[in-house]
Amino acid sequence: MEQPCPCGGLSYGSCCSPLHRGLLQATTAEQLMRSRYAAYALGEVEYLLTTHPSPEPLARRRRALQASLMQVRWRRLEILEVTAGGPDDTTGTVTFAAHYVAADQIGVMRECSRFGREGQCPDGRWLYLEALELS
Ligand SMILES: [Zn+2]
Repeated sequence: MEQPCPCGGLSYGSCCSPLHRGLLQATTAEQLMRSRYAAYALGEVEYLLTTHPSPEPLARRRRALQASLMQVRWRRLEILEVTAGGPDDTTGTVTFAAHYVAADQIGVMRECSRFGREGQCPDGRWLYLEALELS
């Protein structure tokens, strides 16, 4: 039986799994956002690390991610707004609401994420750069 994708796609196998496996690259910022959400939901820590550059030591980032993944169960993703981030863009933003359960409490995390292509090259892979202040 096909497993639905945590990001809302019908089938994980044809939605975010090929990105998590490194078989495909995200073609848009929204696709990278969705695949990162699915990675949070499924505990794909390495995918989260490789799609978000950071000067922090990798081992420390990995430990922090693993700790947070154990405390939160991600239940549903809503994409609220997308600016640029298309196949011909090098930057873009995605505003979303991510619904979760933590310590038996339901919650919603809202964020406007900024994405950019690696090296700002038109054919660079999409990366998650930072969270922007929500207006
Ligand atoms: Zn997906």
